[in-house]
Amino acid sequence: MTFTISPTPSLIFDMRQLPLIVGALYGGRRVLVFLIFTLISYRFFLGVDDGYYASFIIYSILFFILWYLIPRFTIAIKTKDKVKIAGIAASFGIVFLFAVIFFVNPNVNTFKLISLIILFSTQFVGIIFFVILIERSRTERMIIDELKKLEKLKIVSEIAASISQGVRNPLTVTRGFIQLLRGTDIPDDKKDMYIKLSLEELDRAEEIITDYLTFAKPSLENVKLLDLTDELTYVIKVVSPYATMYNVTILSEFSPNLFIAGEKQKFHQCLINLIKNGIEAMPDGGELSIKLEQEEDNAVIHIQDSGVGMTEEQVKRLGTPYYTTKNKGTGLGTMVVFSIIKVMQGEISVKSKAGVGTCFTLAFPIVKQNID
Ligand code: ADP
Ligand code: MG
Repeated sequence: MTFTISPTPSLIFDMRQLPLIVGALYGGRRVLVFLIFTLISYRFFLGVDDGYYASFIIYSILFFILWYLIPRFTIAIKTKDKVKIAGIAASFGIVFLFAVIFFVNPNVNTFKLISLIILFSTQFVGIIFFVILIERSRTERMIIDELKKLEKLKIVSEIAASISQGVRNPLTVTRGFIQLLRGTDIPDDKKDMYIKLSLEELDRAEEIITDYLTFAKPSLENVKLLDLTDELTYVIKVVSPYATMYNVTILSEFSPNLFIAGEKQKFHQCLINLIKNGIEAMPDGGELSIKLEQEEDNAVIHIQDSGVGMTEEQVKRLGTPYYTTKNKGTGLGTMVVFSIIKVMQGEISVKSKAGVGTCFTLAFPIVKQNID
């Protein structure tokens, strides 16, 4: 309204209806009240003359028209319907402007008339253009959201399908052993072996199910403040028998007083999966180093092994369900790790070289602890 267009001195034009109509239709009735109030007050501020009263009348009527159109605009789904409603509002706006101009000054010459028609249609086209643009970008965003959901569903169902496969194998094996145990003339040491193998298979089935459940339900329910030094110390204690079995020494180096937010069990599972992978990558033993440090606003954990490492291709496949290079692997471990880190708003990166080793780096936003 301050920066007007004036093709002849007696004709002053601006685009005030554009933000009014587009803003009200998308913002709702509350925004409409605010916009009309702003418009009329600003017009008052520009000077009270004939034009002010005309404006006041035009925008009061337009107020009621928009008030009526807003709910209809909101429930309209198709872009075509939205454009229609915006077109109705814009047409009313133009009709009122014409009415006022002819009422105040009946002898309008041809030049003025043509200028008016051009200016008003520019505004009309502008309003329609904005509605189409907004609708387009909204649809686009909706499609992207939908795609993301579908993608996740696809993964979950893919896993669900293969999970039954994964669980079936250990169950079949266990069933076989139990059948063998029914025989009477089995030496005790054989019996023990069957039982041991059966239990191992059942454990494996359980492991697969746990991994799957953690993935399918990755939301954090029991979020607490975690002292990383405590949590890492605990996790190392849990995995140390496993490390000993593989002849692996775990080295740790923690900088203290780093806190993050997360669910304890899931965070443990995430670390255990990574450390387990590191250990399993060193079948002939070696060293696994776990380092905790602060980098800017992040707590960073490095888990470094000197194991078999991975090629670039293998690194890319990490986190995809059922990707494993191990005879008894589940291929769910890193997938679970990725999904847990994601819900914890953390980041993970992998550096690996075949034959040299692998380093997983996790970063989580630090939660500041007030120590009073
Ligand atoms: P699993 O351990 O059951 O095979 P994961 O999802 O945990 O399933 O790991 C997938 C694959 O990624 C592993 O089979 C292995 O080939 C590779 N991998 C993961 N971590 C490492 C590591 N630290 N060093 C080398 N290879 C790794
Ligand atoms: Mg694993």
